[in-house]
Amino acid sequence: MAIALAMAGERPVIHERQRETGDAICGGFLSWRTLASLERLGVAVPGHAVDHVRVFAGEMTASAPLPGGAIGVSRRVLDRLMLLRAEAAGAGVERGVTVKAWDGAPMFLATGKHELRGLMRPKAAGDPTLGLRLRLPPHPSLARLIGGAIELHLFDRGYVGLVAQEDGSANLCLAVRKSRLAEADGNPATLLRQIGNGPLGERLAQADWSQPIDAIASVPYGWRATTTQAGVWRLGDQAACIPSLAGEGMGIAVASGIAAADFWTRGMDAEPFQRAFARRTSRPVGIAKLLWQAAENPRFAALGVRSIGVMPSLAALAAKVTRIGD
Ligand SMILES: Cc1cc2nc3c(=O)[nH]c(=O)nc-3n(C[C@H](O)[C@H](O)[C@H](O)COP(=O)(O)OP(=O)(O)OC[C@H]3O[C@@H](n4cnc5c(N)ncnc54)[C@H](O)[C@@H]3O)c2cc1C
Repeated sequence: MAIALAMAGERPVIHERQRETGDAICGGFLSWRTLASLERLGVAVPGHAVDHVRVFAGEMTASAPLPGGAIGVSRRVLDRLMLLRAEAAGAGVERGVTVKAWDGAPMFLATGKHELRGLMRPKAAGDPTLGLRLRLPPHPSLARLIGGAIELHLFDRGYVGLVAQEDGSANLCLAVRKSRLAEADGNPATLLRQIGNGPLGERLAQADWSQPIDAIASVPYGWRATTTQAGVWRLGDQAACIPSLAGEGMGIAVASGIAAADFWTRGMDAEPFQRAFARRTSRPVGIAKLLWQAAENPRFAALGVRSIGVMPSLAALAAKVTRIGD
């Protein structure tokens, strides 16, 4: 957003609460479309090349080519590059500044999973979803196993996403229902050991269990802002929180920033932007939600993997329809 605004001659200021660029809990999968959008913004992202998806459910596995070249990249690297690009384009970056509440001035709200007082999204009802992340250190056998794939290991009430990153390490991210984690005594390491037999266990063989497993609570998957207050431009997860299984959250974040900058420079208000952007996210978020709910159910997950095995083009189709359109 700040990059697009600065490229259009505006002088936006980013308020970032973290003093140092962190490594957000994220699968780190960037699609061909997101890479193209970033390139247009002047951001070249180094990453591990990914050209196919491999899906596991129980004993079954299937593999299929992706519709375009993707990458695995750590958020530490991606976020640093984007902040540097924003500064180079003319945006101000103020680090260590936590915005506490909206003061009524026009604001581009891009706080991701975090809520801002007075502008909170409704809490997800039912069995909430948690996001977890474990970094796997570089290892030749891990590199051989994952290769150029984005892996999805489906299990009852959750999935594990696994991809190699720019430095040879691998990023293991999972989304899991609270009730399933409770069955593992609320302990993410216990959960990983419970579901980590078979192929996932092979990949976890080199895990360094002394590393922390990062967690984020109650991810509001499926939520979309269909309206907004005057002056509040909701971006990224604050505009639409697509189930992470689709690997399109960052695509939506980038697309929302570009679209908001376009509306702003044409002198338009936040409300028409939000409505237009909600229309663009309707299909990808709706389909991703259906796929995620099916993937969480072992019977549907097995059926899905079997179908991809018979017809690999189904995976490419799912990957296409869960990308945000122009
Ligand atoms: C388990 C999991 C796996 C995922 N995997 C993928 C994937 O593989 N590919 C993909 O594309 N997406 C993935 N996503 C989704 C993706 O991480 C998000 O959609 C994306 O990060 C949203 O970007 P954002 O800019 O809205 O928010 P964020 O990336 O969360 O950035 C928000 C920023 O705002 C700052 N901030 C927050 N509050 C304040 C405040 N009050 N004041 C100042 N600064 C503040 C934060 O420090 C942070 O830097 C995944 C998500 C989860 C939970």
